Amino acid sequence: MRDADVLVVGGGPAGASVAFALARAGVRVHVVDRARFPRPKPCAEYLSPEASRILAEMGALELIEKSGAAALTGIHVRAPNGAVIKGDFIAGHGFRGFRDRGLSVRREVLDAILLDRARAAGAHVTEGIRVTDVVRGSDGRVIGVSTLDDGARGELRAGVVIAADGLRSVIAKRLGLAQTMRWPRRLALVTHYSNVRDVGEHGEMHVERDGYVGIADVGNGLTTVALVVPARRASEIGGNRAAFLHKWLRSHAHLAPRFADAERATPVEATGPFASHSRRAWAPGAALVGDAADFFDPFTGEGIYAALRGGEMLATAALAAVGARTTRDADVAFAEYDAARKKEFRGKWIVERAIGAVVGAAPLINRAACSLSARKDLADLLIGVTGNFVPAREVITLGYLWGVFGISRRFTTSRAPFA
Ligand SMILES: Cc1cc2nc3c(=O)[nH]c(=O)nc-3n(C[C@H](O)[C@H](O)[C@H](O)COP(=O)(O)OP(=O)(O)OC[C@H]3O[C@@H](n4cnc5c(N)ncnc54)[C@H](O)[C@@H]3O)c2cc1C
Repeated sequence: MRDADVLVVGGGPAGASVAFALARAGVRVHVVDRARFPRPKPCAEYLSPEASRILAEMGALELIEKSGAAALTGIHVRAPNGAVIKGDFIAGHGFRGFRDRGLSVRREVLDAILLDRARAAGAHVTEGIRVTDVVRGSDGRVIGVSTLDDGARGELRAGVVIAADGLRSVIAKRLGLAQTMRWPRRLALVTHYSNVRDVGEHGEMHVERDGYVGIADVGNGLTTVALVVPARRASEIGGNRAAFLHKWLRSHAHLAPRFADAERATPVEATGPFASHSRRAWAPGAALVGDAADFFDPFTGEGIYAALRGGEMLATAALAAVGARTTRDADVAFAEYDAARKKEFRGKWIVERAIGAVVGAAPLINRAACSLSARKDLADLLIGVTGNFVPAREVITLGYLWGVFGISRRFTTSRAPFA
C-alpha cells in the first residue's frame, strides 16, 4: 500500500522546496528526515540574492528576514598575497537580482522555516526516521524505502521517491548513481562566534595557502565561520576540532586580532570530503535533487540556491510522473528533468570548477585577485554569477579570462597550492 504519491527523503532546502511545490499542487507528499528540526547543518549560511525569489515563492522570505537574518551587499575575497577582490551585488553591469542583497541566516533557523512552509502547504512531515535503502518492485522500479525508526525496521511506499538526503545520499548510493570525485578533497569545520571584530555588510572569503575561511554576520550578534582545509589534515584535526580552528585563525596575522575577544557560541561541526556528483539524477521510480544530485565545493556558496531551484524543477517532473499513464511516461518526465538540470546548471558547474582550481593554487588566486581588485567591473560580474542573477556565460569568455589572467599589476609566485 502506498503511504503517499511522493515520498521525499530529506527535509533540507531541496526536500522542503520540492515538497512545498508538490503539496501546493495538491499531491500527497510525505517528507521523512532522520533529524529532528531545528537541526544544525555545517554551512557558511550565505544565500544568494536570487535565492530570495524562491524563498518569497514559498512564503518564507519575510519569516527569514524577521528572524534577524543579516543582509549582505556583496562578497570580498582576500588572496594569500593580501589583494582583495570586492564584488557588489548592485553594480554597473545591468543585471539585477530578485533582491539587491544576499541573506545570511543560521541553518537551524532557515531549514526549520522552510520545512514548516512545506508542512503549511500540506506536506506530511515525519522527523527522526532514517532511510537505509530503496525498495524495488519485481520490475526493478523503486517503489519505496526501508526505514529505521528508533531501532525498529519498517518500509514506506510511494509512487515516486525523491532523494533529497544530501551529500552522502544513501538513495543515490543504493541506485548506483553517486560518484565521488577525486578532486578536490577538502574538509570543513564550521561554527559561530560572538564578538568578532570588524564584521561588515559583505561576506568574506580569506584564501590562504593552507585553506580558506568564510566569515559573515549571520544576525543576532553572531558571526558564522567556515574553515575549509585539505582532507589530508584530518589526522591533525583529530578529536579536537575547536583547538584546530582556534589555532588556524590565530596563525594568520590579518585574522588573529579580529578573533582576539571572540567567543565560540556553538559546537564546531565537521564535514567532508564534499565533491560528488551523479551520473544522472534519476532512476525508474526515483529522482535526486540538491546535494544528493551534485555538490562540488563550498567556496562559491551556491548549494542552497541549487537545492531550492532543483526542488522547483523536480516538482514539475514529479507532478508529471505522478499523473503519468505509463511507467515509460514517468521515466520520460524524469529524463526531461535531468536534461533541464544540466542545461540550467552546466555554466555554473564550469565556473565552480574553475574557481575551485584557482582557489587551490596560490599563484593563480594571487594573480586573479591583483587583476580583479583593479577591475571592479569584472569582480562585480563574477560575484553576480555566484549570486545566481548574472548568467554564467558572461564570465566564460576569452575576454573575461584575459581580463583576469592577462593583465595584472603584480604577479606573486608561490608554490604551495592546497587541494
Ligand atoms: C562547509 C560548507 C559550507 C557551505 N556554505 C554554503 C553557503 O554559504 N551557501 C550555500 O548556498 N551553500 C553552502 N553550502 C552548501 C549547502 O550547505 C548545501 O548545498 C545545501 O545544504 C544542500 O541542501 P540539501 O537539501 O540538498 O541537503 P541538506 O541540507 O544536507 O539536507 C539533507 C537532509 O537529509 C537528511 N538525511 C540525510 N540522510 C538521510 C537518511 N538516510 N534518512 C533520512 N534523512 C536523511 C538530513 O538530516 C538533512 O536534513 C556549504 C556546504 C558546506 C559543506
